[in-house]
Amino acid sequence: MRRKIIAGNWKMNMTPTEAKALATTLAPLVKNPEVDVVYCVPFIDIFPVKEVIAGTAVHLGAENVYFEEKGAFTGETSPAMLKDAGVEYVIIGHSERREYFHETDEIINKKLLKLLEHQFKPILCCGESLAQREAGVTMDFIRMQLKLAFQGVSASDAAKVTIAYEPIWAIGTGKTATVAQAEEVCRGIRETVKELYGEAIAEEIRIQYGGSMNEKNCKELLAEPDIDGGLIGGASLKPEFGHIVNYKA
Ligand code: PGA
Repeated sequence: MRRKIIAGNWKMNMTPTEAKALATTLAPLVKNPEVDVVYCVPFIDIFPVKEVIAGTAVHLGAENVYFEEKGAFTGETSPAMLKDAGVEYVIIGHSERREYFHETDEIINKKLLKLLEHQFKPILCCGESLAQREAGVTMDFIRMQLKLAFQGVSASDAAKVTIAYEPIWAIGTGKTATVAQAEEVCRGIRETVKELYGEAIAEEIRIQYGGSMNEKNCKELLAEPDIDGGLIGGASLKPEFGHIVNYKA
């Protein structure tokens, strides 16, 4: 049985002071021993959040990383820096980074290899646009994203990756994929992993759904056989996140 993983993607919303306050508000609400809970936060919020979640079961995550070890890369943050700060999970390949920061599949592949080399637990995002869905190429596009991202990744490392399926048209729009749509693609993702790495890794790897997941729709989505968790944007900034973590209650 795969353990569920519910991760908050805080995006660019909280100052360090606000981040500390949010983590403090969430502390009594976010408790479920059956689920891995992760807060993926902006670099500058890592230390204040780490202070609040110390001694709890919540894991620390980042929203980005650079793929070089060190040197003249003004403004960037290396894997070693994140490691030293106590970060365990790192989101890569988010559609916002692909779109606004022009991150290509090649860059995402380099980041994935680097994170695995440094023993992080990557959360690799993939997902189609509305135009791609309407043209009927959703699964073709996602298979391509995954095959390019996983180039050069060994089977044992592949199992350490969490794949987040995030249809771009559902992110921050309040328009969630239907349970059937989300399950269909998550199952397709598992089949793609099976093609690449075989049945055992495909059964082990965790696949999240992301895109307007909230306290109302989480229970149904998380009941699907191929949906092992959620990557939550908007709702991770509210007490509602506690309800999602306790989705069975
Ligand atoms: P959302 O964001 O929950 O606000 O739609 C999800 C994400 O972008 O990870």
